[in-house]
Amino acid sequence: MKNLERDVVVIGAGPSGLTAAYELSKAGKTVAVLEARDRVGGRTWTEQMDGATIEIGGQWISPDQTGLYSLIEELGIETFERYKQGKSVYRTEAGEAIVYEGDDFPVAESTVAEMNKLIELMNQLAAEMNPDKPWEHPRAAELDTISFHHFLRNNSDDETACNNIGLFIAGGMLTKPAHAFSALQAVLMASSAGSFDNLVDEDFILDRRMKTSMQGVSIEVAKRLPEETLFLNNPVLKLEWSDEGVVAHGADVTVKAKKVVLAVPPNLYSRISYFPPLPRWQQVTHQHQSMGLVIKVHAVYETPFWREEGLSGTCFGPNHLVQEIYDNTFDGEETGTLVGFISDVEADKVWSLESDEERKEVVLKAMAEFLGEKTLDPKVFYLSDFGSEEWTRGAYATSYDLGGLHRFGPTQNDNVGPIYFSSSDLAGEGFQHVDGAVRMGRRSAARILAELDGTSYDESYDGVATLTEKANA
Ligand SMILES: Cc1cc2nc3c(=O)[nH]c(=O)nc-3n(C[C@H](O)[C@H](O)[C@H](O)COP(=O)(O)OP(=O)(O)OC[C@H]3O[C@@H](n4cnc5c(N)ncnc54)[C@H](O)[C@@H]3O)c2cc1C
Repeated sequence: MKNLERDVVVIGAGPSGLTAAYELSKAGKTVAVLEARDRVGGRTWTEQMDGATIEIGGQWISPDQTGLYSLIEELGIETFERYKQGKSVYRTEAGEAIVYEGDDFPVAESTVAEMNKLIELMNQLAAEMNPDKPWEHPRAAELDTISFHHFLRNNSDDETACNNIGLFIAGGMLTKPAHAFSALQAVLMASSAGSFDNLVDEDFILDRRMKTSMQGVSIEVAKRLPEETLFLNNPVLKLEWSDEGVVAHGADVTVKAKKVVLAVPPNLYSRISYFPPLPRWQQVTHQHQSMGLVIKVHAVYETPFWREEGLSGTCFGPNHLVQEIYDNTFDGEETGTLVGFISDVEADKVWSLESDEERKEVVLKAMAEFLGEKTLDPKVFYLSDFGSEEWTRGAYATSYDLGGLHRFGPTQNDNVGPIYFSSSDLAGEGFQHVDGAVRMGRRSAARILAELDGTSYDESYDGVATLTEKANA
């Protein structure tokens, strides 16, 4: 067992924990990062499969994600644009695949009008919200106690419009059925991305990717940490704490520190035993944030055959097994990669199938319903399965159950003595995204530095500028 003494110990080497560690070490503090897995990156994870780059976890960046943009600028990481040329495919509830162009789904004019009405309503609500404080929205309690499913139907009689709008937040973002979370949680998702318009615009929200891959961002940060800082294969299962500091117990490293950044997803807080136990409020709060569930389907072909047919690869099919598909070919690769998404109850169905062969057959058939027979024969087929990952337990991220956001949210970012919580799932802007993880990492570092150095913390700091830039501003 290695016994270390540091100013700060960080638990979790995902983008949030690593960003916090990077900022703290740049500010001259000694840091140790204890990571459960044998790799950095957490919910960002990239593998090569038969020569193709597969982003098993997070991958896209959108123009509003300026916290992440400032980090990659600092690291010298470039981005590339997702392939977007050509027509899209929409699969109707009856199962017809319609090729279309433009922003509107090819549905009845009255449904387009209803969808636009709902989009406008969500835009208005999002504009009234400070994403850092969604519980201060003038209608917070009302919106947090109605499910998004019922909220949509209270505002429109058009079932297709409700399903289509539901898709953008339920299957598309929170990856829970729309009856499982509140309208306030849905408005937060929109507000965290700038507006609902941004969320429904796939060219905005799924705009660009990292040339290093998204996991590459964490790898590059880790390279810049001083020696003897990062310790992989060290799950922390025991944390002693008092006003004087903490002792974090990893598998073969124990760290005594003045402060701890707990940078694991909120659903895993209770995986750690705290001595003494956390206060009542945190023990209760942490039971109300749960992971969504989504399967990311990766299928690699000899060529991006859909492009030859004038298609972008973008497909939408609310209420179908595979709800969205995109061209996911990595920068410079000649093969063609499709990524499909299977969310919540549809994901349950896929995992309950008997064998991998059956899963492959069912999923490819569902994708072929959009893009034709050639879809059935990929050279690589892989399903991202974060639900089976002990150190994540779902995808993409955690959100509150009905009523939880306005009840527990106001104190979710308060530190408990020396313990600071840092996760993309606690962010306002960039909520549930790598951008939010980076912003939270920087903010946690700033709060700890203020405590350690006896200076004041600027509550308005949004985590976009690095702490050095902020100090020099
Ligand atoms: C399939 C998928 C697709 C996604 N797509 C996108 C996308 O396109 N764009 C985007 O911006 N975001 C996307 N996301 C979300 C994004 O990946 C997360 O928001 C981000 O990784 C969160 O960073 P984090 O540091 O807060 O947490 P994590 O990335 O979860 O990192 C937490 C770390 O803590 C470690 N850990 C857990 N428990 C312990 C313990 N007890 N002791 C030590 N270590 C522990 C974990 O192993 C992990 O490394 C996606 C996520 C998934 C799963």
